[in-house]
Amino acid sequence: MTTSTGFSIPTASLATALTLALTAPNAAADQALLIRAARIFDGYTVHTHAAVRIEQGRIAKLDSAEAVPADGAKVLELGDATLLPGLIELHAHLTYRQVPADTVLSHGITTVRDVGGPLHPPYGGDGHLRLMTSGPIITAPAGYPIPSLGEADIAIPVGDEQQARATVRELVAGGAVVIKVALEPGGETGAPWSNHHAHGHAHQHDKTHSAAAKSWPMLTPNIVKAIVTEAHALNRKVTAHLAEPRGAQIALEAGVDEWAHTPCEELPEAQLRRAVAQGVKMVSTIDTLAQCAGVAKNASRFAALGGEFLYGAEIAHPDIPWGIDAQELLYLRHLAGMDALEVLRTATSKAGLHVNQALLGSLMPGAPADLIAVRGDPTENLKLLEYPDLVISGGKLVVDRFSDAH
Ligand SMILES: [Zn+2]
Repeated sequence: MTTSTGFSIPTASLATALTLALTAPNAAADQALLIRAARIFDGYTVHTHAAVRIEQGRIAKLDSAEAVPADGAKVLELGDATLLPGLIELHAHLTYRQVPADTVLSHGITTVRDVGGPLHPPYGGDGHLRLMTSGPIITAPAGYPIPSLGEADIAIPVGDEQQARATVRELVAGGAVVIKVALEPGGETGAPWSNHHAHGHAHQHDKTHSAAAKSWPMLTPNIVKAIVTEAHALNRKVTAHLAEPRGAQIALEAGVDEWAHTPCEELPEAQLRRAVAQGVKMVSTIDTLAQCAGVAKNASRFAALGGEFLYGAEIAHPDIPWGIDAQELLYLRHLAGMDALEVLRTATSKAGLHVNQALLGSLMPGAPADLIAVRGDPTENLKLLEYPDLVISGGKLVVDRFSDAH
């Protein structure tokens, strides 16, 4: 047996003697928690003057403040504040860029999906950031991101369908929750990866000529189809880095489930229409691609056609905060024309359903007790979300400036 302080207890009798001393703090850690707030967003809708009870790291009950029993619980009275599920970031490179997970958690993101970086099984959600990964990005030999970032930890080149299927099986066996492919010829105006590319801004005048001569190799539709088929057989979705019409065409033909970015270059409406018809979900990342020529148009058109967005800001990119990116939420609000609750759902309940964890991102009974709270009403000012005064992960208090203030 090893205690939380890290020392070993060698014998049964000593263990018994120490149990009394250790029970008190352990019991306190598992004590039920009751939180009352003026507003509680449960991942779907807002309840006013409500309360949530947390037991054993999970949501036990959410109801009107009078209807939730406080017996045996530590009580937090938040007053004029809004309690909501911790936000889920679906496009990050935390491990690859060595962004500190604790910093991200204390700024209101309780779950991160790394899509591109070292592979490891999901962990956290217990007072530490919940982190799931795709592992390295499957790409063509010498394809993106290899020209920008090299191969180590970030890319796996595959040359044929058999190799592609084997790679998917290995990634899933290693804990991948999603499979990522790159379909990126390079050279889009304003894209962050174009800075590394031979024909960025400086060569716009002969873009057509140079892109045709020197674009990065991409996976063929048949290889991507093989990846999708294998991933679906293993109950995993496939997400694609794509940014322009050629990559989008391959993704559409192969049945890719998710686009990891709003495309950088303007897509023909027919492609967006087909994406919506095929149920493709788009991870927004609009903030980090704000210099892209077509991203705003693609976002509003996709939304107008009925396409579904999920929140992702690409944490680890230098222009993105290590936590909730309110600017990303504001882009969804204004470019995609969503109301504030729709925007919040893209980062909570919809994201949980998308990663096959139906309760994650909600405050339904049985959901993991990942919560944040901010003073005031974030549906009137999304920026408030960047400054959470309460962060709870798996029922454990990580930030509590409500109690500290007393
Ligand atoms: Zn990325």
